[in-house]
Formats: sequence, C-alpha cells, structure tokens
Amino acid sequence: MTVDFASLVPSWVRSLEPYSPGMPIEELERRYGIRDSIKLASNENPLGPSPRALEAVRESLGELHRYPEGDAFVLRRKLAARLGVSPEALVFGHGSNEVLELVVRAFLSPGEEAVVAEGTFLIYRLIVQAAGGRVRSVPLREFTHDLEGMAEAVGKGTKLVFVANPNNPTGTIVRREEWRRFLEKLPGHVVVVVDEAYGEYVEDPEFPDALAATREKPVLVLRTFSKIYGLAGLRLGYGVGPPGLVEFLERVRQPFNVGTLAQVAAAAALEDHEHVERSKRLNREGMCRLAEGFRRLGLFWVPSQANFVLVRVGDGARIYERLLRRGVIVRPMAAYGFPEFVRVTVGVPEENERLLRSLEEVLREGGNDGSGG
Ligand code: PMP
Repeated sequence: MTVDFASLVPSWVRSLEPYSPGMPIEELERRYGIRDSIKLASNENPLGPSPRALEAVRESLGELHRYPEGDAFVLRRKLAARLGVSPEALVFGHGSNEVLELVVRAFLSPGEEAVVAEGTFLIYRLIVQAAGGRVRSVPLREFTHDLEGMAEAVGKGTKLVFVANPNNPTGTIVRREEWRRFLEKLPGHVVVVVDEAYGEYVEDPEFPDALAATREKPVLVLRTFSKIYGLAGLRLGYGVGPPGLVEFLERVRQPFNVGTLAQVAAAAALEDHEHVERSKRLNREGMCRLAEGFRRLGLFWVPSQANFVLVRVGDGARIYERLLRRGVIVRPMAAYGFPEFVRVTVGVPEENERLLRSLEEVLREGGNDGSGG
C-alpha cells in the first residue's frame, strides 16, 4: 500500500514553504573545498558571547543531569529588575522564535488573521500559516513598516499584528510619533507583537519605548539573547507584556523549554555591560565602514539601525553564489521580496574589509564568468 503522506496533513501545512536559514560555514567549506570562510549571513555578534557567559556555562556543566529551572527563576528576577517590570510580565522561549510560536498558539484560532509587513522576518507568516491562520501583508513604504497602512488593514478577523523594530531585513525603524498614532487607532481585540531582536543596536533618539505601551495595551515586546548578547547557539529569547496577557503564553509553554546553560549564560551576559557597549561600538564603526565601501562601489544601500544592512547588487542570487565561492557567506534576499539585494551582517573589521574586497571583485566580473549563480 502506498500512502499519500501529503493527504495526512491539513492544507495549510501542505502549502508551507520551509524557512531557509543562512548557510553554516562548515557546509560551505565542505561543498567548495575551501577554508577560512566568513559568515555575515545571520546577524550574529561577531565578537561572540561575553566571557562571563562562557564562565557561567562552564560552572554549570556538572548540573546537566538535572532538569533546568522550569520558570527561569534567577534569570527572570534579574531581567525583571533590569527592565523595571514584574517577574510575571516575562515569558522565556527557546529563542524568540519560540515566543512567536507561543503567541500564535495562545491567541490565534485557525481562520483568524495576522497583519504583517511584506518585506519582514519570514518566520511570522510561517508560524501563522502553520497554525491555520491567514496572513494579510502590507507593503513597506520606503523600506519601512507602513504603520498607518497596517492599522487600516486590521479588521474584525484580525488577532495579531507583527512589527519588527528594527525591521529585518531592511534595518529601518518605526519612530515614536507613528507608533503612538498606530496604538491609538488599534482596536482592543488585537495583540501587537513588537519584535525588538535588534533593539539594543538602535541609536536613533526617536526609537519608541515599546515597553511603556505594555503597561496600557495588549502589546508584547520580544527580545533575544541571540544578537547583541552573542548567544544564538544557546537559543534564548523572551517576551515582555501585561502579566494578564503573558499568563496565557505561560499556559501553552512547555515546562522545560529553556535549558540550564541558556539560563545561566543569559543571566551572566546581562551583567556584562562592557561587552554590550563594545559590541555596539564595533557595530557602529563597522556599519560606517560598510557604508563607505558601498558608496565607493556605487551601490545603493538602506541606512540601517541594526547589525546588518541591505545592499543592492544587481542579481542578488548570482552575487551571493559568487561570494560563496570566495568563502564569504551573505544572505540572498529574493525570498523576502528583494531579488536585487543581499543582506550583510556587520562583522569585525577584517571581515568587513574582506566582504568589500570580494564584492568589488565579483561585481567587476560582470555577467561573463559563466558561473550563472
Ligand atoms: N526576530 C527577528 C526580526 C530576527 O531577525 C530573528 C533572528 N533572525 C529572530 C526574531 C529570532 O531570533 P532567536 O529565535 O534567535 O531569538
């Protein structure tokens, strides 16, 4: 008997397109037989984690036969004090991606709708579709969330709105005044998710205080230890919201969703202000250097508040492939609706120089090398 496996899943799962993550260095080097590659593709912190986080991990290794603290007791209290919120305002996840899952599982029934921007983090639509929800997408305006358009797109069947601030992959932010107007317009039956995965990098004084909104509205702010804290491999993110709302996320959360090492590393990383400041400085300087390099190469790029930048290179897929062969991994952007662009994560100075040099070479090759991409 042959089984039609596709007939076993609901139509909304059948039609899902799997998320394509950035290529790991090991895979690239295996594929092309090269060495000394660099990865500027997944917006990780090129400095790595705080040494204090690594020390905390080492100290916890003897406890790995025990289950982790189910409520992240220590980390929860530390973070709540840091943010000036009550411990019950926090929910932790296996990366902020898991918190996104919890949100959808808790608030969205099949057939209900989520409003998202067209050129934003693909995981929002993926998770909504996987839960049988419908996605209503609103085009970006000048590479930025069109909050006015998104508020207008909210209807009776809308349950969730996702706003990435800064946005991935454009690096743009929504500013205080448009955020305030957006909140005013929003009906009470909608939960707003503000994804601040890159919030710590922002230097624009007009960056809104989304946390403040969680005191009055059904707003949930998402943050992560994967970016500026350099702990992407341990998977830890969190949500901050009104305790009455967060309670429902806790109900759909698995008891041991965050491992011991992630908890202790994050608690230690929070204390290392110097590492965070150094990471920010490195990013600012690297961003300036990349911008200067792009200008010299005559390329258009989108000014970014995050640790990555979207740059127009012509045929994004082809340039991505050619950079790969030179051991430089960036992210092609066709899946995000930007086929002419690649997204580059800011690296350490040598990585930025290598990227710019390689980019210059592959652009100079023109369309004649036959590699095709
Ligand atoms: N939100 C945005 C906008 C992101 O770019 C990412 C990571 N690429 C995440 C959330 C997820 O981060 P994590 O699950 O590692 O916390």
